[in-house]
Amino acid sequence: MARPSLPTLVAIDGPAGSGKSSVSRAVARRLGLGYLDTGAAYRALAWLVLERNIDLTDLTETAHADAIDTLLKDFDYTIGIDPDEYFVTVGETDVTDAIRSPEVSAVVSSVARVPAVRTALTELFRSIAANADRPGVVVEGRDITTRVAPEAEVRILLTASEEARMGRRSAEITTQSAETVAEQLRSRDRADSQVVDFMSAADGVITVDSTHLDFEQTIEAVIDVIQTRTKRAFE
Ligand code: C5P
Repeated sequence: MARPSLPTLVAIDGPAGSGKSSVSRAVARRLGLGYLDTGAAYRALAWLVLERNIDLTDLTETAHADAIDTLLKDFDYTIGIDPDEYFVTVGETDVTDAIRSPEVSAVVSSVARVPAVRTALTELFRSIAANADRPGVVVEGRDITTRVAPEAEVRILLTASEEARMGRRSAEITTQSAETVAEQLRSRDRADSQVVDFMSAADGVITVDSTHLDFEQTIEAVIDVIQTRTKRAFE
C-alpha cells in the first residue's frame, strides 16, 4: 500500500517579538494545519535544568557531556500541535505556563547553545512534524528554514523593526517595566544569534516584514505566501 504523503511543512523563523508564535498559530488554525512551537522544547529543557538545580557550566563544558546525556535521556517531553489545544508537559508536569517565566527566559539561550541539545531537539521536531495527523504543519522557531526543515515547501522569515518588537513584547508582559523587557529581549537575541542566524533570510526564504502590519494583516500576508508557494488553499 502507498505510504500516505508527508504533511506539507511551513517553516517560519524570526526574532523574539516578531509575532512569530501568535501569527503561526492563527495561520495554522485558519488553514486547518498543525502548529509546532519549537522554542517551547528549548524552554521546557531549560525548565528541567532549573528544576534539577543543574549548574549551567555543566552543560556548556564538554567535560560534562554526561550531564547533558542524562538530561536529554530524562527529557520526557510532549507538546500539543493542535492550535486550539496548546499544551506542553515534561513527565507528568504541565509546564505550559511555567516555561514562559522570566527565570526560564533568562537561561534558555545557554541551554539552546549546547550542540548535543540542538541535535536531539532537531530530530524530535522532524519526527513530530512528519507524524502529524494533518495536511500540513506550521513549524516556527529560529533555525527551521535553515536547519530543521531546509527542504520545507514554504519558508518564511518574519521580521519587524526592533522598536516594533520591543513595543509588542512589553505590551504582553505587564509584570516588568518596558526597559527591563526590552533589555532582556535584546540580550536573548544577541546570545541566540551567535548560534543561528535568524535576522537575515537564507536563499529561497521569503521575508514578511510586519513592522507596519497589524496582527490580521500579518496573518493574511503569511497565508498569501503559503497559498502562492503551494498553490493550495488548504481549508
Ligand atoms: O521562540 P521562543 O522565544 O520561545 O524561544 C525560546 C528560546 O529557544 C530562544 O531564545 C532560543 O534560545 C531557543 N530556540 C532555538 N531554536 C529554535 C527555537 C528556539 O535555539 N528553533
